[in-house]
Amino acid sequence: MSGANRAAGLLVAIAVALACAGCTRRDAPTGTPYARVAAPVALVVVDGLDARDVAGDMPELTRAWRESAWCPGAHGRAAMPARTNVNHATLATGVYPEMHGITGNVFWARTADPPRKLGAAADFLTETVFTVAAAHDPPLRTALAVGKPKLELMFAATAAGHAVPDDVWSPKDAPSSGRDAATGYATDAATLAGARRLLENGPAFVLVNLADVDRVSHAAGPHSGEAQATRRATDRELAAFVHDVLARPGWREGTIVVTADHGFDATTHPAIDVGAMLRDAGLADAFVVVPDGGVAHVYTRETPRAAATTLKAARQRALAQEGVAEALYRAFNREDDWYDHMIDHVHPDWHVVNVRTGDLLLVTAPGYTFAASDGEDAHLRGNHGAPAETDVPVVALGGVASGDHCDEIHAADVGRTVLGCLGLPDVARLDGGPIPPQSQGRVLRGLCKTAIATAVPTP
Ligand SMILES: [Zn+2]
Ligand SMILES: [Zn+2]
Repeated sequence: MSGANRAAGLLVAIAVALACAGCTRRDAPTGTPYARVAAPVALVVVDGLDARDVAGDMPELTRAWRESAWCPGAHGRAAMPARTNVNHATLATGVYPEMHGITGNVFWARTADPPRKLGAAADFLTETVFTVAAAHDPPLRTALAVGKPKLELMFAATAAGHAVPDDVWSPKDAPSSGRDAATGYATDAATLAGARRLLENGPAFVLVNLADVDRVSHAAGPHSGEAQATRRATDRELAAFVHDVLARPGWREGTIVVTADHGFDATTHPAIDVGAMLRDAGLADAFVVVPDGGVAHVYTRETPRAAATTLKAARQRALAQEGVAEALYRAFNREDDWYDHMIDHVHPDWHVVNVRTGDLLLVTAPGYTFAASDGEDAHLRGNHGAPAETDVPVVALGGVASGDHCDEIHAADVGRTVLGCLGLPDVARLDGGPIPPQSQGRVLRGLCKTAIATAVPTP
């Protein structure tokens, strides 16, 4: 152990002692003893709020962002692919998609079954903040208020014993006036009213998803008058919520982090139908195609080694298509420059290579999206998934101190720091395997004032 590590270890020991000084048992209304946390944390995800769209439409958030004591004006980087499930999973685990396994909103499991949605609780390969909080002794009380029903499923109980948040508010709890008829999503006003109710039970952690900005930006485009009006309304409602929460006695030291799961792109060209493209090239039988907004996963039916030549042909056909910016292999291709076009080689910061990732990952240029021509996504005016849609705001309010490395903040960093702020350990893999440091976010200094007990990796 180096001197620096020893010093860090001592700090951790002090931090643990301080954190436990604030940890006492109390009897909750249900009789369950919960840990009392001196500084609760709220993580508010404004779904689809691109950092480029905050100024102008969102004066309250802009002011809070500029004036925050912690990393004023900080931009975050969403996990790739810039999809809702990928990023909620990353924020709720503090590890990258290669480790938690939610590599998109959809995937193909390489079985006889067709591609399916990805992101239910049973799809996780690691614990989440909710399961770690429930396993803590005494447990930390947690809450979830989401505008999208699928995010309730993401943190639901599973046969494997995933613990759920203690209190959940989802669109089924909204009055019909608080739900969008077409999507079934709750309005932000209804979701925030639901979150306020959950706070009455004194949770140590609450995760909130606000769906309005994403919903309207898909339907009308992120730069439409409708989307602008939605951002203005969300700004007002969010500002009132933040004000109320931080005025509560239990939240004097608490932290509210406002961020987004991804940004947004205005779709200005017809959707690219990768399945049809490969069919025209005589390659359809070799592959299963899963479009997912700004990316598309192309899976070989053979092993990637056996399919080296057909994968190369698919890659070349894709790159000839207007609107396809990148085409990257999951594994090396000995027929095509070996390692040169691998995801991990070209984008080592994505950490998205998992068996669930396509053998060929296609990425759109701005203005384009992937969708089957008969798919429900084919006519959206806005979408997201590509690297251009990973620029998000990160605003920390309440009990925060000054931060460092403020220009390189990833969703995984926010997630791991939240665990630390609550005095919880890092998530573990469900198969018991190791989580290498590069698959984890880093701890963001100053995001909360309380001691972070889990900050130091042991070498
Ligand atoms: Zn989203
Ligand atoms: Zn979306």
